[in-house]
Amino acid sequence: MSTKKQAPRVGFVSLGCPKAASDAESILTRLRAEGYEVAPNYEGADLVVVNTCGFIDAAVEESLDAIGEALAENGKVIVTGCLGAKKDSAGRGIVEQVHPKVLAVTGPHATEEVMAAVHQYLPKLHDPFADLVPPQGVRLTPDHYAYLKISEGCNHRCSFCIIPSLRGDLLSRPIHEVLREAETLVKSGVNELLVISQDTSAYGVDVKYRTGFSNGRPVKTKLYDLCKELGELDVWVRLHYVYPYPSVDDIIPLMAEGKILPYLDVPFQHANPRILKAMKRPASAENNLERIRRWREICPDITIRSTFIAGFPGETEQEFEELLEFLGEAQLDRVGCFAYSPVEGATANALPGALPDEVREERKRRLMEFQEDISTQRLEAKIGREIVVLVDDIDEDEGAICRSEGDAPEIDGLVIVPEGRDMEIGKFYQVRVTDCDVHDLYAEPIWAAEE
Ligand code: SF4
Repeated sequence: MSTKKQAPRVGFVSLGCPKAASDAESILTRLRAEGYEVAPNYEGADLVVVNTCGFIDAAVEESLDAIGEALAENGKVIVTGCLGAKKDSAGRGIVEQVHPKVLAVTGPHATEEVMAAVHQYLPKLHDPFADLVPPQGVRLTPDHYAYLKISEGCNHRCSFCIIPSLRGDLLSRPIHEVLREAETLVKSGVNELLVISQDTSAYGVDVKYRTGFSNGRPVKTKLYDLCKELGELDVWVRLHYVYPYPSVDDIIPLMAEGKILPYLDVPFQHANPRILKAMKRPASAENNLERIRRWREICPDITIRSTFIAGFPGETEQEFEELLEFLGEAQLDRVGCFAYSPVEGATANALPGALPDEVREERKRRLMEFQEDISTQRLEAKIGREIVVLVDDIDEDEGAICRSEGDAPEIDGLVIVPEGRDMEIGKFYQVRVTDCDVHDLYAEPIWAAEE
């Protein structure tokens, strides 16, 4: 007896102009490449895709009729094409209003979104010979946390950096693809998503914040919308490489509501306006102290980490001291500092006033020493508090090696729970902070939190 499963079958109805036909070809090619069969009629199909036209009234009618027929004959219908993008004067989708039972609606040129909807409602057959990797891909991180890359490249040209010349301008990944990856990771057991890119706050700028579709709903390619969606996944969501643009202010309430972690990794790099200008930093004209104050007003528990460069070409002693003053006022939780290093090809190397190695290193050391007290005081303020931690490892001597909401893996501190040897790696627990040193917190377990 053969145990071979039958391939999932998709019915396809295509209306409209040659551009719509070309979209249809691209979707059909993807379906066939992924092992779906194309059904010749409604009865033989597990699901139907209707590619619509919305050009003139007659075409709209024809498309709506075709959707109605597919719903009546089959029941599982995904709509794509021009009519899918059409809205009434109140901004409501025409298709959704006439046929609320459709599973998903996308606009034209949306092969990826259509395939995402097909995968959701009619999963591919798992073929162990073709699918040699698990759905979440091969990852280098532990099972319980994962990096989620949302874009590649960068539109800025910071004078000390050569990344744009290596990786090109900003290219945002389609929102549905990012969200699908996040969902797959969470299903595979990931409890913490680390959102990364070169410039996270710029997500979607290159595609003019285009509306994509995820799980049949329109979602903008924008950091706020992404955070909102990720916030529904019920895992820790941590943002890295966020520049202090005014638009970031909108995300802080999501942190205060507990949707995403109250944590921001903001690479300020310097505080003196002349140096920031010479660095060509994004958002260099913003009043960062004022911004930080406002963030803390909205979300008092926010952890802010940042990185700085000491000894940038031309930096005077006074300008460096201004940076220390900024740190004194900003009271950042975590700080990393690099002595300026002339990367080959960076335009900053041509700036006048290059400083000797010893001066750059000495300023870096002074900055780190200055910050050490601030970071320690901020950790001390947590002693006695109950916090949630995620267990990264169990060490027979030290106990459970965990992290709090304020600690990103690899770069921040740890929460060490000496009595936590029975805790499980990758799970959340409630603990009480008992002590701290310069980088880490020490805590005792209270009870095992829900997964
Ligand atoms: S340092 Fe500047 S140029 Fe380099 S990746 Fe970051 S924002 Fe872009």
